[in-house]
Amino acid sequence: MKNPLNRRDVLIGMAAVPAGAAAIAAALNQPTSRADRKVGYAIVGLGSYALNNIIPQLQRCRLSRLTALVSGDPVKAKRVAAEHGVPERSIYSYGSFDRIRENPDVDVVYIILPNSMHAEYTIRAAKAGKHVLCEKPMAVSVAECEAMIAACRQAGRKLMIGYRSHFEPHNLHAMRLQREKAVGRTRFVQSEHGFPIGDPAQWRLKRKLAGGGSLMDIGIYSVQALRYTSGEEPLSVTARESTNRSDPRFREVEDMIDWTFAFPSGAIGHGFSSYSSGHNHIRLTGDGGWIDLEPATSYSGQRMRVRRGAGEEQVTPPPGPAINQFVGQLDHMAECVLTGRDPVVSGEEGLRDMRIIEAIYRSARDGQTVRL
Ligand code: NDP
Repeated sequence: MKNPLNRRDVLIGMAAVPAGAAAIAAALNQPTSRADRKVGYAIVGLGSYALNNIIPQLQRCRLSRLTALVSGDPVKAKRVAAEHGVPERSIYSYGSFDRIRENPDVDVVYIILPNSMHAEYTIRAAKAGKHVLCEKPMAVSVAECEAMIAACRQAGRKLMIGYRSHFEPHNLHAMRLQREKAVGRTRFVQSEHGFPIGDPAQWRLKRKLAGGGSLMDIGIYSVQALRYTSGEEPLSVTARESTNRSDPRFREVEDMIDWTFAFPSGAIGHGFSSYSSGHNHIRLTGDGGWIDLEPATSYSGQRMRVRRGAGEEQVTPPPGPAINQFVGQLDHMAECVLTGRDPVVSGEEGLRDMRIIEAIYRSARDGQTVRL
């Protein structure tokens, strides 16, 4: 069968370096027993994000394809498999998951389960010899993140976190403008994320499954944004929580939390997270203007405004590495598998955020600044 990829197709990763390009070309010239050269993904957990976003986008990828499903619901799994051409032999339950080791069509296991299940399935996937793409938050504690990194390292497999904004053109352009000091020296970065959450019975509101409340789920976008738009790592954090514990949604987890970062340059970061109000915003203010993204990290429809001196303009960024952030993320992981390159959003990146999240919770609880 004709190889469906050409050299151009695979040079899509962010800032593909010459060494990476050579490695891809070498990988593509290797003889293979596979029917085609696309990297095979097993999706673990057929919930809303998997079914509505990731599985449809896999159809649009140049380097990635859906080859297996893991679900606790065999009827749903069979239906999804039939819709997407996945053979029945490549459907697994959580109990039979470890048999994925024997499936040569699976290169990457993509974990889209409730947060507290991420560590277990990452470690089991690595032990089965598979690369892992794991949804955010990486896990529910620093200790779990460290165990996941160790398991993947020991197995010699890649570990990437589903931080899709690193493949989204507006976010990438904001990072670029900051590096170029387009609005001068960074003074203040702010990011707010939230949505009014509904059904009190859902897993996102159960501590055992979610690990925390709005901060773990949506506030992690604010943590990420403050780090990637400033290009700095916080030295310390001071946080405060506000939760109405008589609201049946917030018996186990927090509603609102806000925090302040001190950055090494002297710049200040302010983050906010909410399960009772809608926010999706990033703004970086320099001594020569500001860069504003709203919505900033939505699935689509990002808008960017930039003010320099007296002039304010709506900016259309240069195209990203792929047709959209989901395809960019999936094909970046595939490129890493093909070339041996490390993912731009690695397990270590997920661990950094989890250290910060634990510090935010600690600061909010103790009413003290926590050094990082
Ligand atoms: P859903 O509740 O829609 O789906 C989760 C799926 O996990 C379920 O459908 C089920 O799949 C499986 N599951 C296994 N055990 C349980 C359990 N005890 N309780 C509930 N579900 C279980 O969640 P989402 O798809 O919204 O979120 C899943 C993960 O993806 C989370 O970590 C979330 O943070 C992340 N996410 C990331 C987004 C992003 O933009 N990067 C956006 C949305 C979510 P099955 O029936 O097949 O067993």
